[in-house]
Amino acid sequence: MPGAATRFARVKNPPFEYHRPGSLGEAVTLLAELGDDAKILAGGQSLLPVMALRLGAPPHIIDICGLTELAEITLGSDCVTIGATVRHRTAEMSDTISRHAPLVAAALPHVGHRAIRTRGTVVGSIAHADPAAEMPAVCLATGATMVARSAGEEREIAAADFFESYLTTALHDNEILTHVRFPAWSPTAGAAVVEISRRHGDYALVGLACTVDVIDGAITSAALSFFGVSGTAVRVTEAEKSLVGKPPDDAAFAAAADIVTTTLEPGGDVHATANYRRHIAGVLTRRGLAEAAAKTGVPA
Ligand SMILES: Cc1cc2nc3c(=O)[nH]c(=O)nc-3n(C[C@H](O)[C@H](O)[C@H](O)COP(=O)(O)OP(=O)(O)OC[C@H]3O[C@@H](n4cnc5c(N)ncnc54)[C@H](O)[C@@H]3O)c2cc1C
Repeated sequence: MPGAATRFARVKNPPFEYHRPGSLGEAVTLLAELGDDAKILAGGQSLLPVMALRLGAPPHIIDICGLTELAEITLGSDCVTIGATVRHRTAEMSDTISRHAPLVAAALPHVGHRAIRTRGTVVGSIAHADPAAEMPAVCLATGATMVARSAGEEREIAAADFFESYLTTALHDNEILTHVRFPAWSPTAGAAVVEISRRHGDYALVGLACTVDVIDGAITSAALSFFGVSGTAVRVTEAEKSLVGKPPDDAAFAAAADIVTTTLEPGGDVHATANYRRHIAGVLTRRGLAEAAAKTGVPA
């Protein structure tokens, strides 16, 4: 007769060996030994459901939650850095994030429910790379840099090269994503995250993380990063370019929305057809740009 713990493991997660390293050095050494037999556990808000649903059964789990060296949000001269064990909720409450990384701040309330944000991590969400998640789109829109560490080296990966396809990133099996750096925010820029989901807290059917920078009444740059439309978040650069030099008004936003609806090629599934997603992407373009423009130059 198996013990209660064994029975629980069979009903819920497949059995695994649990490791709780005391330092980042220990964690990357373990990862080097175990290779793709191991998975990093951060907040567990995606990994544990994946295991419970038997979509994955890693024999080893390396829990990095106790690594206080990765628990910081730091403001540098040219970036804001978020460490791998910073929870969504900690970032949501952070004055540094709201002032210096407003697109991250705008995205956070959309990530699941508060209970999920209290456990889940910002960096875990980026490493997980769900195409309907907010944070990968924010990384793409802002040109964030990922910092990955293995036992042998540390390397930096640009957001544009990091997200490869559905739940797949450029991270190697022996690497931990230790930090994400968001570039310094322009004081003349505004940010918005808008999305349509079936219920509040659900993943978006279609979402948009956008920024718009306005100087002397004209748009100098814009970023339109859509999520929930493809295997990764996608930027629609033609629509972004169409905004430059124009005043931030309805006509400019409608023209950008038209480009989005003709350029974007979303997929259809049981939740929404491709046509519905394309239409919503246009609606969100107008809505998101108007919201971002209204915040330009407004201190957070
Ligand atoms: C009901 C529900 C609703 C949700 N809704 C949303 C939503 O609307 N939007 C959204 O964005 N998310 C949503 N989530 C997911 C949530 O945001 C997770 O917190 C997030 O996706 C993963 O973060 P985590 O820290 O929990 O990572 P974990 O679940 O611990 O890990 C996820 C994956 O990333 C890997 N990983 C984690 N950290 C690292 C690292 N530092 N280095 C290398 N690999 C790493 C793990 O090995 C695993 O493969 C939802 C979750 C639930 C349960």
